[in-house]
Amino acid sequence: MQETEVLIAGAGPTGLVLACELARRGIGFRIIDKATEHFGGSRADGIHPRTLEVFADLGVLDELRAAGDGGIPLRKYDDGDLVWEGRPSEPAPPAPGVPHPDPWFVPQFRTEEILRKALAGYGGQVELGVELREFHQGDRHVTAVLADGTELRAHYLVGADGGGSTVRRALGIGFHGETDETTGALIADVRLSGLDRDRALAWSRGGEMVSAQPLAGTELFTVTTSRDDITATPSALQERLRWASGLDVRVHEVHWNSTWRANARLAERYRDGRVLIAGDAAHVCPPTGGQGMNTGVQDAYNLGWKIAAVLRGADPALLETYEAERRPVARGVLELSGRLLDLLREDDSEAHVRGPELNQLGLHYRGGPLSAEERGEPGPLRAGDRAPDAPCERDGAAVRLFELFGGTRWTLLDFGGSLGDPGIADLDVHAVVRGAGRPGDVVDVHGHARTGYGVGAAALFLIRPDGYLGWCGDAGDLAGLRSYLLPKLNAPAPRVTG
Ligand SMILES: Cc1cc2nc3c(=O)[nH]c(=O)nc-3n(C[C@H](O)[C@H](O)[C@H](O)COP(=O)(O)OP(=O)(O)OC[C@H]3O[C@@H](n4cnc5c(N)ncnc54)[C@H](O)[C@@H]3O)c2cc1C
Repeated sequence: MQETEVLIAGAGPTGLVLACELARRGIGFRIIDKATEHFGGSRADGIHPRTLEVFADLGVLDELRAAGDGGIPLRKYDDGDLVWEGRPSEPAPPAPGVPHPDPWFVPQFRTEEILRKALAGYGGQVELGVELREFHQGDRHVTAVLADGTELRAHYLVGADGGGSTVRRALGIGFHGETDETTGALIADVRLSGLDRDRALAWSRGGEMVSAQPLAGTELFTVTTSRDDITATPSALQERLRWASGLDVRVHEVHWNSTWRANARLAERYRDGRVLIAGDAAHVCPPTGGQGMNTGVQDAYNLGWKIAAVLRGADPALLETYEAERRPVARGVLELSGRLLDLLREDDSEAHVRGPELNQLGLHYRGGPLSAEERGEPGPLRAGDRAPDAPCERDGAAVRLFELFGGTRWTLLDFGGSLGDPGIADLDVHAVVRGAGRPGDVVDVHGHARTGYGVGAAALFLIRPDGYLGWCGDAGDLAGLRSYLLPKLNAPAPRVTG
């Protein structure tokens, strides 16, 4: 019998981020995928600002920046008339609290490639052609059975195995929602000539929609047609493009294609004992607004540190907070992408406009099981909110708060610097002061940290490993800090194996 601490079924973006999170915490894991080769399609090409922050923490942002672009304008024609032209969203300048305000576009296959490279840097590797068939749970283990009959024993199994999830089905977890068989599309990544790469084009003709969008960081275009009954050959796609646009477009090669159905479903539970589901296995939404992959990445970022902490001795109740925090987020994402799909169906002129509600920066866990707001007079930023960035200085050099939160540990921001050393291992403590402080103090020279955190006088902000405010307390409240944090930290327990 083979053994590991965590078995991840599925090596899409969700499984890969989870694997990176476990790997950088020294947790033993296997990540398997039934596909015999890596995914090669564009699919989720929009990476939203909150996900960019996650990717920055994982150390892959520079590579993603080099592999994509910030988006291009769109021109939309209706029966030959230009009816809409513009950018889906207007670029916003970086702000002290938001270093990455705009989405970035990278084809999904490239994002996965970059995540696999990061995983390799942590010593992990995807096992291709390895399919999870079934599993059995005991009190202490899950035993997975692979397609070749091999048995693999793990402390936890995570199904990151996509919308058709074997794991979710085996658990009998309902996947409620709807699949609209009447709204679908054929999507193909193609090499073509006859169109410029400086804008995307969409044509509506006789009720059919056809579009061609340059695929960021490649020489390809993604062609979409609402006729999903045609075969994705170069000649068939060329014929639809010429018919819709009237332009002399030539399609030379089809690299990848897929058909899509409007699907909106949410799993009724995210966990059953030692088995959890994440990403598309737990929620599928229409691609309008590009929320699916982003939500899966953040599921994994929420789950990774919790599984790692529990495996190293933290209170197992921590794992219950995963569904409590992430399922409401998925419900909101489904509503949002459904609204955008309705606009598209109605051919509404606003259908292509993308507002800040898509950037996922405002998602929060206020009122959730890990959010403890214990200040006498809380400010606008509360426990459960995303902890904002701010440019500061330390020992005369520039430092950003995000650099201090990055990595795998909890961070305490002690505004006012009166707490001193709380004597908690595994906790990074930073005094944030206004003027010249002691060596190592974070000096809020421009006041951006005080403004971003809404701090008038002194206060304590405890930031979780995934960048959200877990506990907020008044200055000096060491007892409050300890009673919140200690059960969630790795206990000095012996390493559990087998
Ligand atoms: C046309 C289209 C456009 C999209 N655009 C966007 C966008 O712009 N932005 C966005 O955020 N999202 C978008 N999405 C959604 C996005 O592609 C998905 O949400 C994302 O791929 C989900 O990632 P995942 O890792 O959860 O699952 P997947 O990417 O589906 O990966 C699951 C993996 O599990 C493997 N697997 C399945 N069963 C087993 C098994 N039994 N054993 C082992 N392995 C198994 C599969 O081979 C697969 O590799 C789009 C989707 C489509 C279809």
